[in-house]
Amino acid sequence: MENPVVLLSALLALLAGLAIGKAWERYKLRDGRWVDRRRARDSPHYMLGLNFLVANQIDPAIEELVKAAHSAGDPLEIHMILGNLYREKGQVGRAIQEHQALLQRSDLRKLEHANVVLCLGLDYKRGGFVDRALEAFTEVLRLDPENQYALSNLEKLYEEQHQWAEAYATRQKLAARRDQMTPVRHHETLAYLENELGMEALKRRDYAEAARRFGAAIDLDSSNAPAYLNLGDVRYYQGDVEGAIADWERLIDQSPERAYLAFSRLDGAYTKVGGAPRFAELCRKLIAANTQDWRARLALARHLSSRGGAAEALELLFDAIELNPHALVIHQAIWQTLSSLHLPPGLVNRYVDLTRDSIFYLDPHICVRCRYRSTELLWQCPHCHEWNTFTEERIAPAKDTESTLTS
Ligand SMILES: [Zn+2]
Repeated sequence: MENPVVLLSALLALLAGLAIGKAWERYKLRDGRWVDRRRARDSPHYMLGLNFLVANQIDPAIEELVKAAHSAGDPLEIHMILGNLYREKGQVGRAIQEHQALLQRSDLRKLEHANVVLCLGLDYKRGGFVDRALEAFTEVLRLDPENQYALSNLEKLYEEQHQWAEAYATRQKLAARRDQMTPVRHHETLAYLENELGMEALKRRDYAEAARRFGAAIDLDSSNAPAYLNLGDVRYYQGDVEGAIADWERLIDQSPERAYLAFSRLDGAYTKVGGAPRFAELCRKLIAANTQDWRARLALARHLSSRGGAAEALELLFDAIELNPHALVIHQAIWQTLSSLHLPPGLVNRYVDLTRDSIFYLDPHICVRCRYRSTELLWQCPHCHEWNTFTEERIAPAKDTESTLTS
């Protein structure tokens, strides 16, 4: 429970509560008596509670805040924070109870009402009650149309449900608000959402709509890699191979570091239009432009290997392994190439020499608390200073064939 995420959300909950409190007047008439809102903050329990919260000790924080609420005439803000803390602890039912009880108060103002419903929406979301969460955030926006938290939570929920059009509309509302976020960041997100809408059209085989969506994604953000790949795929399915090639080459011009995503597509397409040497030219151009590019070397090596150029391929792979000794795909390609050459001892020895000094983690371990990595088992973590948190780190065998398709 005591992890950075919990701490962060607890602090956010606290800040939200404080912001609401600030916007609140000091005195308020309730149940026929004036309540001094400042009394809550003067209470030693309130300060103690906040201190525990900052130290990420949620249980004692709750205990103190309950006392503070009691001694200050049960102010709304403390109960909102308490509900949020129950939610952070995973006690969603209790959080919902706490927040729903606040809705029963007859003296809620519009903005207070909106904030309580927002908390409830977060409770429902945490509990997995998607429909009720959607309803709650929509209700918040009815009361407070520009509420940023409601909009961004709504967007994430729509995304989780793959309701891309709704997510898109919500992000547009977020972008229309005046905030610190630059338009570029909104366009980046909108481009990914356009791309998803295009993928849906592609699944329906509505190529015209798909191409329109992918084009719109590129117009929004010219660095959106999947849109270029998908736009090229649409043209390819429609039989326009040169058009597809042009789209994939545009991706490489825009983001050379993402070029490898288009390698297998381009290799096939060039061959199809009778221009096989174009692929080798492309890879050589990329290697010349970026001497660190091991992916272009790997792709060129595979391309040459399949055309009888195993010896040249092996040289490229030896360069590549020096650039990225951790990439298992290069080791595999080297062994495939070596065995196609019948394991000449000289070249096998060169491989052994090249990889001898590689900085592999000989016996990788990881701290389960803070993800610190170590090359051996440690009893105390040098990063988070916790005892006995190291566990053997193993990379699970890959299940899909994605890497062979895209590299
Ligand atoms: Zn650690």
